[in-house]
Amino acid sequence: MFDGLTGRLGDIFDRLRKRGALSEDDVNAALREVRIALLEADVALPAVKAFVTGVKEKAVGTEVLRGINPGQMVIKIVHDHLVELLGSQVEDLNLEAVPPVPILMLGLQGSGKTTTSAKIAVRLKNRDKKKVLLASLDTRRPAAQEQLRILGQQTGVASLPIIAGQQPVEIARRAMEVGRLEGFDVVILDTAGRLAIDEELMAEVVAIRDATKPVESLLVVDAMTGQDAVTVATNFNEKVGITGIVMTRIDGDARGGAALSMRHVTGKPIKLMGMGEKTDALEPFHPDRIAGRILGMGDVVSLVEKAAESIDKEEAEKLAKKLEKGGFDLEDMLSQMRQIRKLGGMGGMMNLLPGMGKIKEQLKNANIDEKILDRQEAIILSMTKKERKKPDILNASRRRRIAMGAGVTVADVNRLIKQYQDMSEMMKKMKKMGQKGLLRQGLG
Ligand code: GDP
Repeated sequence: MFDGLTGRLGDIFDRLRKRGALSEDDVNAALREVRIALLEADVALPAVKAFVTGVKEKAVGTEVLRGINPGQMVIKIVHDHLVELLGSQVEDLNLEAVPPVPILMLGLQGSGKTTTSAKIAVRLKNRDKKKVLLASLDTRRPAAQEQLRILGQQTGVASLPIIAGQQPVEIARRAMEVGRLEGFDVVILDTAGRLAIDEELMAEVVAIRDATKPVESLLVVDAMTGQDAVTVATNFNEKVGITGIVMTRIDGDARGGAALSMRHVTGKPIKLMGMGEKTDALEPFHPDRIAGRILGMGDVVSLVEKAAESIDKEEAEKLAKKLEKGGFDLEDMLSQMRQIRKLGGMGGMMNLLPGMGKIKEQLKNANIDEKILDRQEAIILSMTKKERKKPDILNASRRRRIAMGAGVTVADVNRLIKQYQDMSEMMKKMKKMGQKGLLRQGLG
């Protein structure tokens, strides 16, 4: 899988990682090669553009960590952006509804829809201990209903008894009724495919959707069809609305274009991937693992992560020492906010500074999110060094100037200063309470 791309990227980054110093030209040249490699792998142009721009911006704004060379840093940035392009998180199937939970399977003929329906049934049965009912709504292909029944039989999953002459919407209603009466947890509705998208197909699928109100509408696409798969997904999403994508034949997909473009172009997550013809050849789609496989640079990525961790720890230690001395100023608050951001949220930050439970609560109440952090950072950056060191001098006219500089209201500035004062007060109290060095626990 993705062999072609892995080889190309491997060559580009092997050269980069061996270099001691990198100029902006070196990075630009490498990114030009990455761009070509992605296009040759059949990745959609908008996705390629967003990717390369994102990496470039990040590369310019990132300081190289101690103990890491610039090439390694760039590889880490590329890796992180690949993960993002692939969707960042694992998206599991949503089964949150009163059973029987309807799952609608959509896709063109030959995409692997029927096989995938059976694979999902097996997965839910074995992993989630769900009672699953398979129903084929394909009345066009004479053997389709029979195919699903046999697959069910082979895998020990129940399938809806076939009644000749019934229409798709009727079959779907019956499947849900049987699901209710016989206590099934999940009903998988395998719709009919077509060779290409046509209006009749869409109308039929929409009627089934409206009759069953599926919790998941999964589009099955063949990864080996490249950008056609992305076009099909865009179409289905616009006309029917999909909740996720299952990409089949990833096992034979050397290029990877569809997998890499899908999320960016359609905005929908790839939830599962088919890795073979057997009914157990279905895996969750892990963006980080896939990115790791594509890039083939796992050692560099973990090296950079370790370096970042140790530096964060040093910073946290420095801050903790300062707090013990009782001198917490706005400069410290800024560095703390930056750490929070770097660590991707409060959880990580507080792990580094044990004993800060109360502040954690406070910050949680203050509803910290990215935008608020952006604004707060802008406010502190609009202050002079002196103001940051001695917040007491922040009178009304200084606050007005800072608000203007940061593009916020004076009330925003006041709120930040109040928050600073609260934190500072809390730290003093903690210091009095915990002379034994509350903050030092776990930091050594
Ligand atoms: P449908 O017309 O969309 O229902 O397609 P089918 O489920 O009948 O699948 C068509 C063919 O693709 C069958 O031969 C399947 O065994 C094969 N197939 C399905 N998924 C995968 C996969 O993930 N990998 C591989 N290699 N073959 C698959």
